This record gives sequence, C-alpha cells and structure tokens, in this order.
Amino acid sequence: MGAGNDAGPHSVVRRAAPGRVNLIGEHTDYNGGFVLPTAIPQQTAVVLTPRTGKTVTAQSANANQVGEFILGDEQPRGDWLDYVQGVTWALGHNGFELQGFDLSVSSDVPLGAGLSSSAALEVAVLRAIRDAFGLALDDLTLARLGQSAENDFVGARCGIMDQMAANLADGSTALFLDTRSLEFRRVPLPADADLVVIHSGVSHDISAGDYNTRRAECEEAARQLGVPQLRDLTDADLRRIEQLPDPLGRRARHVLTEDARVLEAVVALERSDLNRLGELFGASHASMRDDFEVSTTDVDLLVELAQDDEDVYGARMTGGGFGGSVVIFARQGRGRVAGDRIAQAYATRSGRIPTLLVPPNF
Ligand code: ADP
Ligand code: MG
Repeated sequence: MGAGNDAGPHSVVRRAAPGRVNLIGEHTDYNGGFVLPTAIPQQTAVVLTPRTGKTVTAQSANANQVGEFILGDEQPRGDWLDYVQGVTWALGHNGFELQGFDLSVSSDVPLGAGLSSSAALEVAVLRAIRDAFGLALDDLTLARLGQSAENDFVGARCGIMDQMAANLADGSTALFLDTRSLEFRRVPLPADADLVVIHSGVSHDISAGDYNTRRAECEEAARQLGVPQLRDLTDADLRRIEQLPDPLGRRARHVLTEDARVLEAVVALERSDLNRLGELFGASHASMRDDFEVSTTDVDLLVELAQDDEDVYGARMTGGGFGGSVVIFARQGRGRVAGDRIAQAYATRSGRIPTLLVPPNF
C-alpha cells in the first residue's frame, strides 16, 4: 500500500459496508416490488490511498488475483476486480472526476453465500472514493451507482435491494423498501426472537446465468400480461397468470404472492407476531422452491430441518438462490443452540459444511 501516494498520511480513507440478509421478498426487487433486508454483523472493509495519475491498484484478502487498471479504460476481466472497475466506470459515466488510488479489501461476509458480499464491496468502495475525493453523492445515487456497476459492467442483472441494504440497513431494524419508488421505512426487529443465518456450504455464482434467466422470464411474463412490471399485478390477475405458458405463470405467481407476503410480514413484525412471520417464511420458501425454482435439494433439507426444530418459528432460503443461506427466527435466547443443532443435523445428512453466521462467532 501507499506506492505513489504523495497526498500525505491523512488522506488514507478506511470505509466499510455490511452484508445483508433478506428476511422476505425474494426476486421481487427487479420486478419493482417490496423487500425486507437487514444488515448482518459481517462487513467488508476497504482502505483507499490516493495516488497521482489515473492508475488504480487493488488487492483483496479474499481473492488471489491482484489487479491494476487505468481510470477511463476499465475492461472486464471476469474476476473480482470487475466490481472495483465497475464502480469507477459507473462514476466516470456519471460525470464524476476521480484520481488514481491503491485499494486494499478485506471482508468477513462470505462470498457467494446469498448475503450480498458483492454490494458490500461496491458500497464500501463507493464510500471510500466519495470521502477520499469529496464527491457529492447522496445515499440513493450511491446505491444506484453500485447497482449500475453490477448490472452494466459485471453483467449480473440484480435489482436495487442489495446496494440499498448495504448502504442504508442496520442490524436492529429491517429495511422495508419499495424498490420502485425507493421509499423505505425501518421496522424494528422483534426483541423477543433471535435472528439466525446458516450458510448451506453451497455457493452460487450470480452472474452464471440462472439469475439472469429468471429476470428475463419475469420480463416476458409482464409483457404477455400487458403490465409494465410484475409489481403491477393484483389478485384479480391470478386467472390470467395461470393461463400463461409454463414456467412464466409460476414465475409471475411467485412475484405476486411474495410481494403480498412482504406487506404481511411487516405487519407481523410490527405486532411481534412471530408465529405468523414463521408461516410467511414457510410459504415464501415453498414458492421459491416450487414456483420460482431457485432452491436446491440441500437448501430445502436445511430449511426443513430448521422448520422442524422445536425452537424455530420459521425458516426460508434467503438471497437469489441456487445455494446460499437460510434465514431463521428462533425463540429468544435459543438462536445459537438451535442454529448449531440444525447445522449439525444438516452436515450429517448432506455431507456439506454449513456455517452458523448469525449469531456471529465474534
Ligand atoms: P453474493 O453477493 O451473494 O456474495 P455474488 O455472486 O453477487 O454473491 O458476488 C460474489 C462475488 O463478489 C465474488 O465472487 C467476488 O468476485 C466479489 N467479491 C465480493 N466480496 C469480495 C471481497 N471481499 N474480495 C474480493 N472479491 C469479492
Ligand atoms: Mg451479490
């Protein structure tokens, strides 16, 4: 670190951003719908040291490749550096003037676990650049630039949830977000329950195609139904939805019912009605498994073991799917015990190596 830095030690900027777990509202964000993420304790930290000229160097404790590129000449390489290049590319395309820097990244958000390490990285880098170079970037613009880096440069067509969560969520509330208007409200997490997150040990690769395929299916379903986005559907459309060719009908039904479940989950959270929240988690998981088809056999097993646990109110897969993590609400004070028990049973049955991430081990 520090090569080419002639701006003095005070210009070194350290910033961080958390991973997130989505409580409910999956694959709704790119359909203009509702989501309900909360920040997890794990976070991505970056140290940025400005340097003269237009060169950027980057290294990460979580990746082998070190990288170097020139601002204004970002080229996708197909590795993690694309997330950093994507950020400077998006800033440049939106008229922000940057100078070169050396970047060092470290994170305890697991990569590819459905907990949004990608947005944590983008938001941490954006915060560091904003503060190092004095850019006027409000919260929504910052989130949108992170999304643009991922959509337009990396090539993963994610919605806005992850960047909004990394930038605006905290660990004591859930961020109830309307992804169309970007209006949000913070809903306190229930004091009488423990949040539990278990990584299934199966990583996904979001840019590998399945996610983008689901997004294309949703756009096609909306087109055939004659609505701008699936968010615009109501229960009155259910019959028309069921007449769509398979799998478009099931994809649309997932989005319609999932949006409704988010609204109900907010009410359940506000009433501390954990049994209702648990039912909604169960219905959400079944919809992701059967209608949206983004779960896997291993994740289904992990969810079933959690749902059968005596201390659990409800469990579901969280994140884009095809592996990743499971989110659980457990009885207050029982989260760690239940989480360890569920992870152990899952390891025995699946042969996978799960990790209890929340409550954290630190
Ligand atoms: P998720 O966001 O659910 O963790 P993604 O596939 O969207 O999964 O993003 C994971 C990718 O983001 C990694 O494969 C890597 O390229 C990049 N990434 C995230 N965090 C880091 C990090 N700390 N260091 C290097 N690369 C990272
Ligand atoms: Mg991601």
